[in-house]
Amino acid sequence: MKVKLLGAAQEVGRSGILLTLDDGSRILLDYGVSLEGEEPQFPLPVKPKEISFVSLSHAHLDHSGALPLLYVSASPPLVTTPLTLSLSDLLIRDFLKLSKYYVPYEYSEVKGMMENAVLKGFNESYEFGGVTVSLVDAGHIPGSAMISIDTGSYTVVYTGDYALHDTCLLRMGDKSALSKADLVVTESTYAEFDHPPRDWVEREFIATVTEVIEGGGTVLIPAFAVGRAQEILCVLAKYNFPYKVYVDGMAKAANDLILEDSHLLRDPGLFEKAVGMATKVRDWNDRKKAVEEASVIVSPAGMLQGGPSEYYMEKIMEKEKNAVIFVSFAIPETPARQVLETGVFASPTKKGMVKARVEWFDFSAHCGKSELIETVKISKSNAKFLLVHGEAEAERAMKNYVEEQGREALMPALGEEVEIEI
Ligand SMILES: [Zn+2]
Ligand SMILES: [Zn+2]
Repeated sequence: MKVKLLGAAQEVGRSGILLTLDDGSRILLDYGVSLEGEEPQFPLPVKPKEISFVSLSHAHLDHSGALPLLYVSASPPLVTTPLTLSLSDLLIRDFLKLSKYYVPYEYSEVKGMMENAVLKGFNESYEFGGVTVSLVDAGHIPGSAMISIDTGSYTVVYTGDYALHDTCLLRMGDKSALSKADLVVTESTYAEFDHPPRDWVEREFIATVTEVIEGGGTVLIPAFAVGRAQEILCVLAKYNFPYKVYVDGMAKAANDLILEDSHLLRDPGLFEKAVGMATKVRDWNDRKKAVEEASVIVSPAGMLQGGPSEYYMEKIMEKEKNAVIFVSFAIPETPARQVLETGVFASPTKKGMVKARVEWFDFSAHCGKSELIETVKISKSNAKFLLVHGEAEAERAMKNYVEEQGREALMPALGEEVEIEI
């Protein structure tokens, strides 16, 4: 078989993996955009008419944001979970609405994507031309899946983004598929590091938020609308956080969609409690009130690029008693990264030094180093690995772990098509 990376080749962002099987049929895994820098970056083009089907691992835009491009001139089936589809629809429509740059598709193509969806739950399968696809719980965000492709003679597993540790929101990913794969296409985002123990992170986070509020300050938590916002709300609920919590922006709609599929969560009751504890910000009056209160505001955008968090940051940064707490990896060339590195916040309407306290906590929903090594150890002794979704340094670290365990690792460049003997 052949594998060509249309994106996420020695980079994090715009995932797109094209498999060409021995019979010439083509399968596309994810098709996302990169949000690094100001202008969205799209993956390399593909001929939609030549694709047998596409499968989507999860809703994050770096995996889903370019999918509507496939529906400009064709209609390939899109195999994914029901929750991933509804969350992707939400995120892609918002991306179209808020993008200050040209996006080469419109709402009608998003509609085309929705109409061609083939929805499957975890461990259900879909047959197409002799190939069996199944989606396996990835433990990354609600609805997220690893994609297993069984051709009859060999099995390819694409991990998407995954975690082998529990979070408040989700149970760890299901490892069983990883041990059956002949080829593992794996993310390698955090191959160089281990995440700190989750209990410790949670306790430090709660202590910090409490300290700021008891000092009369407001805490802004810029969070991605899907995944991290829900995780933070669950952490606050788990610790019976007694102070006012607001939730704003698309996290509200994402909460509603996730509530409908709450059986996928580790503890549906905790999530229901978390959503119940948080006050929805309805309008500008609420927003103005929230920034003056000793409260916690959980709001997208996670990187302070657009969304209500941009407005909150402009207000909150002015007072030393306030705090902004980042809870995700800071993507290079974003306002969040700039705040963390230089202490300066710049939005289209404001620029200045941040007087508020700035903190960062590692709530990652990706595998850390040990989890990636575990993935290699539980794989077949002759399994091959193809590395994606990591900076070059991280992919090189992952390549070493794979080779130390006597398996073969490839880290193709963007656009390079590699032939793999299985
Ligand atoms: Zn993701
Ligand atoms: Zn990703």
